[in-house]
Amino acid sequence: MRIDLHTHSTASDGTDSPAELMAEAAAAGLDVVAITDHDTTAGWDAAVAALPAGLTLVRGAELSGRWYDTEPTMGLHLLAYLFDPAYEPLAAELAGVRRSRERRAERTVELLNADGIDVTVPEVRRYAAGGTVGRPHLAQALVRRRLVRNVDEAFRPEWLGRRYRLPKDDIDVFTAVRLVREAGGVPVLAHPKAEVRGHALPDALIAGLAEAGLWGVEADHTEHVEADREHVRALARDLGLRVTGSSDYHGTNKTVRLGACVTDPLVYRDLVSSATGATPVTGA
Ligand code: AMP
Ligand code: FE
Ligand code: FE
Ligand code: ZN
Repeated sequence: MRIDLHTHSTASDGTDSPAELMAEAAAAGLDVVAITDHDTTAGWDAAVAALPAGLTLVRGAELSGRWYDTEPTMGLHLLAYLFDPAYEPLAAELAGVRRSRERRAERTVELLNADGIDVTVPEVRRYAAGGTVGRPHLAQALVRRRLVRNVDEAFRPEWLGRRYRLPKDDIDVFTAVRLVREAGGVPVLAHPKAEVRGHALPDALIAGLAEAGLWGVEADHTEHVEADREHVRALARDLGLRVTGSSDYHGTNKTVRLGACVTDPLVYRDLVSSATGATPVTGA
């Protein structure tokens, strides 16, 4: 069984439509794939409709969270699996983050314009194509202007990594864990030690989240070096958390391939039986 529990489609900042993502997952030899777009469930139905025979889909999302009780506050990503998308308190938080992302994109464009870089909001919206707007869509505008060679380069400090990086209203991570649980879902902390994304999250936070209802933590991720993975596994053992592995595939917006990291089938089975908000769907 090859199980990849973290991928993105055009419903957020991936480059494959949900249908293409399902086809790619089957072609990559996966048995189970999770769709985890940033702050949205908009890709779920199209992914279900396009499921190839034998492929199982886990419906999920990657929530933009933040730990507010530290100085400076820390942004982080929380994966949520098999939750009820109609649970209003969670749906409202996700809608709020998406609105904040729209405003952030507009303000980032203003900041770029003030420096004489003529990107436009409609252009960035076009790259987002109705999905959750993210920095990769701003990055595409910079690539188009030949100001950077690729999306990766657009995340350097002199661009979207720092100079043109603006905050958005992320969900308090403790609230996020609670709401995902209330929605019958399973919360898993994404890439907690991936320093290229900002900073490694402290173990004390992960311990606090475990107490607050966190179910698991992503250990195998391409942005974790081997020492990070071992550290996360040991910490998870101490805290009674499950460990997952996944690719965090984004199509051509990142170089990682589907199935680059995978999750243990026993952990997957455990995840499914812990969820009450939705069930996996297998293509007929
Ligand atoms: P946002 O959530 O809009 O702030 O953008 C963060 C997203 O940008 C992540 O989910 C990745 O998809 C992407 N990203 C972050 N860092 C990089 C990087 N160095 N190169 C390419 N994509 C990145
Ligand atoms: Fe992303
Ligand atoms: Fe992430
Ligand atoms: Zn992701």
